[in-house]
Amino acid sequence: MSLTQKIEKLKREKKALILAHNYQRPEIQDIADYVGDSIEISRKAMQEKDAETIVFCAVDFMAESAAILNPQKKVLLPTLGARCPMAQMLTVEEIKRQKAKYPNAPVVLYVNTLAAAKAQCDICCTSANAVEVIQSLDADKILFGPDRNLAEYVQEKTGKTLIPIPEYGFCPTHLLFQPEDVKVLKLQHPDAVVMVHPECSSEMRKVADFIGSTSKMCRYAKESNAKKFIVGTEEGLLHRLRKENPGKQFFVAYEGAVCPNMKLTTLDRLYLSLRDEKHVVKVPEQTAKKARVALERMFEIKC
Ligand code: SF4
Repeated sequence: MSLTQKIEKLKREKKALILAHNYQRPEIQDIADYVGDSIEISRKAMQEKDAETIVFCAVDFMAESAAILNPQKKVLLPTLGARCPMAQMLTVEEIKRQKAKYPNAPVVLYVNTLAAAKAQCDICCTSANAVEVIQSLDADKILFGPDRNLAEYVQEKTGKTLIPIPEYGFCPTHLLFQPEDVKVLKLQHPDAVVMVHPECSSEMRKVADFIGSTSKMCRYAKESNAKKFIVGTEEGLLHRLRKENPGKQFFVAYEGAVCPNMKLTTLDRLYLSLRDEKHVVKVPEQTAKKARVALERMFEIKC
């Protein structure tokens, strides 16, 4: 029996659902029941009522969100070391410090934060709904973390003042994109449309034809009449874009833009995780309760 067949067999026996983030390895995306951005796959976990176990092929904060939103299900993270460095940049102490400094400013946290941080905020957001979440608040000065680039982008879009917490939070993978690489690719493919993730720098956003989250990029690529796209986000998304748009061509804006944490999940690790039911993601109930409120408030925002 091949490894893939073994995983499929275990999946049926354990009534498990395999969810994969858009940045996962191609073979993980192919075996997953559903591929999407962090909140799309957490929502999927909520909708699949019959699933008893969820294998979350992603990084720590995403698996935590799935566990928070699905307390009755067992959530497994195949690789314990799959941790997002940006989520680690915002500590509870820093949030408390900034709250004391700006007592009237609501706290909005990107879902790319750990559960303990989420428990300190008023509402969460994703890169897909950050603009709508900020617009929904009756405040002009807002504490926003941990991604400074996303904060700047949302500030431009909404005209509100976003105070970045920490001061310089960033995604190390998206920071690797440089406009010079896009210029070189544009010389080779002058008709290509440039899509850029808001976690990229403002210089990258300036060369973009379209700025959006991974889910928005997928929708845009499908609906666009363009045939070629230069993509400014983690290279894993290109597997999905190519699968969904066989007649179109996609080029990653910089080939070195690989998130090493996202790539830690392999088929071997996925198999062992399902077989041995490791590693179960647990969030302390008090923390989960508060973080769930912030996530549920976000789901109420229409966008
Ligand atoms: S791509 Fe960036 S934000 Fe996403 S998991 Fe990797 S380091 Fe974190």
